[in-house]
Amino acid sequence: MLYLCATPIGNLEDMTFRAIKILREVNLIAAEDTRRTRKLLTHFEIHTPLIRFDENCKESVGKKILERLRAGESVAVVSDAGMPAISDPGADLVRLALGAGVEVCPIPGANAALSALICSGLDTTKFLFAGFAPKTKKNRREFLEKLSAIEATIIFYEAPHRLKNFLAELLEVFGEREAVLARELTKVHEEFLRGKISELLEKISEPRGEFVVLVEGKIFSEPSPPAEDIPSVVKKFLEQGLDKKSAMREAAKKFNVSRRKIYNALLKIED
Ligand code: SAM
Repeated sequence: MLYLCATPIGNLEDMTFRAIKILREVNLIAAEDTRRTRKLLTHFEIHTPLIRFDENCKESVGKKILERLRAGESVAVVSDAGMPAISDPGADLVRLALGAGVEVCPIPGANAALSALICSGLDTTKFLFAGFAPKTKKNRREFLEKLSAIEATIIFYEAPHRLKNFLAELLEVFGEREAVLARELTKVHEEFLRGKISELLEKISEPRGEFVVLVEGKIFSEPSPPAEDIPSVVKKFLEQGLDKKSAMREAAKKFNVSRRKIYNALLKIED
């Protein structure tokens, strides 16, 4: 079994009982930064052997890990913080394991994106995790342009030294929208800044710490049916014997808009 094991994103008390148990029981822990993970393991008295597994060595180490999994051993993957495979190494190992018929098991826990989303006050029913924006200006622009049409809350990760520039570009491409900066989640200086993108840009002078950036999705605006069609359609329903309210309701259904839109259009025409 390959376990994908979440670790805290700042507050050690967010380590789960199950994560401690699994990390003690597995044969091997694959960690992004073994020094950092060793500190965590020492804190929770976990003495399992560690192997470095990061972007640079993922191919060679991935093969070694797969051999051990095939031999029947169990391995846990951890990242520096939060959920492995979310803007962190792990996803490749999952694909390798699945390809070799090895089972994969999540050990859920802290994650910066979802922690920020649930406290953002933005729409949580539909959201898109976009992770880090590309580093080059051209690619970043294309990336943002595609996202600007999404009708769901969009979640980004961004480094503090790039944050101001990123927000300025976001404003250029997305236009003014509600946004939230979730800073230092679960840590002593945890903070949420809410407001329009331009207001947030004004609020942050020298951003420090870790940030999640959330932006409201494109607001869905109803298409306007051609105004001249509305009276004739309502009239047709009236002639079929419907009362005025029902005729407007049927017209709204036909044009796939709200009844208020039909009502307002009729008022304009009557005027
Ligand atoms: N795997 C992690 C997770 O599940 O959230 C994400 C790792 S990614 C390499 C690191 C980025 O996540 C940071 O640059 C920041 O944008 C965000 N992040 C991580 N911890 C955070 C925290 N405590 N507060 C705010 N953002 C955080």
